[in-house]
Amino acid sequence: MENPDLTVETEARSSGRIQRANSLAGDVYEAIFAQLMSLKIPPGSRITVDNLVREFDVSHTPIREALGRLEGEGLVVKTHLIGYRAAPQITRRRFDELYELRLLLEPAAAAKATATLDEERLTALREAAGVMARRVGKDERLRYSNFARQDAIFHDKIMEFAQNELIRETLNHQHTHFHIFRLMYHSRVTEEALDEHEAILAAFAAGDASGAADAMRVHIENSRDRLLPAFE
Ligand SMILES: [Zn+2]
Repeated sequence: MENPDLTVETEARSSGRIQRANSLAGDVYEAIFAQLMSLKIPPGSRITVDNLVREFDVSHTPIREALGRLEGEGLVVKTHLIGYRAAPQITRRRFDELYELRLLLEPAAAAKATATLDEERLTALREAAGVMARRVGKDERLRYSNFARQDAIFHDKIMEFAQNELIRETLNHQHTHFHIFRLMYHSRVTEEALDEHEAILAAFAAGDASGAADAMRVHIENSRDRLLPAFE
């Protein structure tokens, strides 16, 4: 006869193992992501699975999983027979095109989103912006990479509320925030953006559509100007 206690214990143990495996893969991913964002792994450089296996003291599986996920995010490029590389740095031309695209789409979307914002949505935006302001954690690289991700979430939420999925997808596919934050690993990139996000939120809270468009335009123009020295 089957011992019910034993069955429960076995299930608990196997689900525990899955959880551990998941969080290990997640931790490995976060660590490589932080190294890519902070340029510890320089753009265009080779990434060897064996080196990462040694560095993190884990098996090949979580490393390959992490690299596959990073490939999907445009941060890692896999070439047949050669292997993985960090994605090359964005070119000046591409950068200009990206900001032209953002300036065409995001201020108009911010204006459009204003009309759809209720308290719940406003709270979601405030939370997305608020997470970025928190200076938790000692690891500066991790903080920087988290900031980049949160900035992507904040902007994407505004696109979601503007209710044009095509515009949202178009911007998402550029992986804008991952590319631009790799241009410069510097606190100025993050500190000033926080105030600009506050200005956007203030216009949203006031129901001021044209104010939201203006604040978004200013934020994107300033972001561009902060990053331009990376090309000098
Ligand atoms: Zn932003």
